[in-house]
Amino acid sequence: MEIRLEKADDSKLKTKPDENALGFGQYFTDHMFVMSYDKGQGWHKAIIKSYQNFSLDPAAMVLHYGQAIFEGLKAYRGKDNRIFLFRPKDNLRRMNFTAERMCMPQIDVDFVFEGMKKLLQQDCEWVPGAPGSSLYIRPTMVATEAGLGVRPSHQYIFFIINSPVGAYYPEGFNPVKIFVTDKYVRAVPGGVGHVKTAGNYAASIMAAVEAQQQGYTQVLWLDAVERKYIEEVGTMNIFFVINDEIITPPLSGSILPGITRDSVIQLTKDWGLKVSEKRISIDEVFLAKEKGSLQEIFGTGTAAVISPVGSLHYKDKVCTVNEGKTGKLAQRLFDEIQGIQYGYINDPYGWVVEV
Ligand SMILES: *Cc1c(COP(=O)(O)O)cnc(C)c1O
Repeated sequence: MEIRLEKADDSKLKTKPDENALGFGQYFTDHMFVMSYDKGQGWHKAIIKSYQNFSLDPAAMVLHYGQAIFEGLKAYRGKDNRIFLFRPKDNLRRMNFTAERMCMPQIDVDFVFEGMKKLLQQDCEWVPGAPGSSLYIRPTMVATEAGLGVRPSHQYIFFIINSPVGAYYPEGFNPVKIFVTDKYVRAVPGGVGHVKTAGNYAASIMAAVEAQQQGYTQVLWLDAVERKYIEEVGTMNIFFVINDEIITPPLSGSILPGITRDSVIQLTKDWGLKVSEKRISIDEVFLAKEKGSLQEIFGTGTAAVISPVGSLHYKDKVCTVNEGKTGKLAQRLFDEIQGIQYGYINDPYGWVVEV
């Protein structure tokens, strides 16, 4: 399949925002990648064209039954002004894993990757250069067939939009205050918590709003069955350092398999540290704190890379972590991963791809 290029008129190109006030996901580049799917025909009409509205039938299935999936990764303007992607094909493979669970069609990873690169080349001036900034890439697929019967749609669109985003920590690390909820759950065994589908986020908003109203940054989710074992935080996976052992919950089927999580596991193993993927309960964390063996807690995800946790709040109890300061391992991982992403540190894993 050919990817058609229909450049936006020069007169319609947008003025670029101030690189030091980008925030997250507020601005979008001049072009987008789109392709269509019809059952029987497969994917077709791949095009890079000006960023524009879609026209959708009000009965489009995505608007009613939520067949909507997405990915999130970043392009970094790094060493020698070059542009790098971090493990991009892992994101596209994960999208296929998500698509399968949602009865949506598979994409051709290599083809979509070519489309992503071509789009980035077209809008390369939009990859910001301010320290810590990047271009956030959002591949998305939604069901477009018109109809109110509940079944898999026979038509879809897949698209990629790109958004320049600011540094997550413009003034250095800021350890977060986390609220542990035992009132709401994010995902149940047998459900869709392990895939990046839109409904998971809709379902999580209320807990996040309530936590924010009480002054917390994020919600930590416990398992839905016993409300005891730790799952993940907001849009991040979570790690604990207890007695020099690095612990993260296993991919049980209700946790999103984060690419940053996987990178942290590989790096720390190669550094000779003890890493365990095992169930850990919220009570064990508070007990470790009491005993003085809790050293660090941090979240991992594409947006922040590493997010140190300053305190956990559970029922009436508070667990302050490392005196509310960023731990040594969190700092080392952040420096290493960012260094690799921006091309300043040697990448023995083949994670980085130049655009
Ligand atoms: C995307 C996501 C993550 C982090 O995944 P990365 O691949 O590291 O960005 C973690 N948890 C949830 C719920 C997510 O949606």
